[in-house]
Amino acid sequence: MTASELARQLHGKKAGKRWQCRCPCTTMHHNGDRNRSLSVWESEDNWIRLHCFTGCTRDEILAALGLKVRDLALNEFRRNPEWEQRRRDEDRLKLLEHQHGLAIMAQAVIPEERNYWAAVERNIAIKGRALRGKLYPEEKIRREKERELQRIISEYGFEELWNCLPQSVFEVKHEN
Ligand SMILES: [Zn+2]
Repeated sequence: MTASELARQLHGKKAGKRWQCRCPCTTMHHNGDRNRSLSVWESEDNWIRLHCFTGCTRDEILAALGLKVRDLALNEFRRNPEWEQRRRDEDRLKLLEHQHGLAIMAQAVIPEERNYWAAVERNIAIKGRALRGKLYPEEKIRREKERELQRIISEYGFEELWNCLPQSVFEVKHEN
């Protein structure tokens, strides 16, 4: 909800950056608020502010509207599908890591079913890696680089690498 939407609901008239609205409280305004006593505006810190010049409190106004304080927040409490998905992914990753541990344990304590639990563990590990890569993409890039380095080392051997790299890489620079 924005201040403009709330103001429309309260027959507000725009005056500068604020709306002069009919206050919905009936305690102070027995026959409805003919004077447009309620000022509604959006503050710099992203809240909808309410002020009734007759003296109704914010809680009274909210109660009359059937709203909660959090409904006046322009950003903080607004549902963010991206965050919600991330929270779900994090919960799922936690669960997968827990299951991963259990599968490893099962391999150790149930030797006759070791192959089964090893397959389960592999399956969980693949899912966990995919989710981890999605949640922490930078870590994924770092691990890919490490894997690539390991591959090069295992393929060429350290000595060959040493020989084909320019020696300037290993020289210590002395700067004044
Ligand atoms: Zn009022």
